[in-house]
Amino acid sequence: MSDAQDEIFCCDSLKGAVAELPEPAVPTIYRADNGLLMMVVGLVQTEEGLGYLDQAVMHCPFCGTKLQDAKALAEKVSH
Ligand SMILES: [Zn+2]
Repeated sequence: MSDAQDEIFCCDSLKGAVAELPEPAVPTIYRADNGLLMMVVGLVQTEEGLGYLDQAVMHCPFCGTKLQDAKALAEKVSH
């Protein structure tokens, strides 16, 4: 295995979507600071400007591999 940073990528499509987007494309799938893989699902206009609505990626959108489960997410996300 390589380092932990690559562990979450199940296929080249997902890895490419996260890591190899050409500038200035907005990354719609990204690795959050807490290690969660997040996907931008929409934009929202707020008083402070345009914001992103994102959601944790539970399954790979390309090949369907389960990447994260709800229990792990609950432990990482503090409410
Ligand atoms: Zn995949």
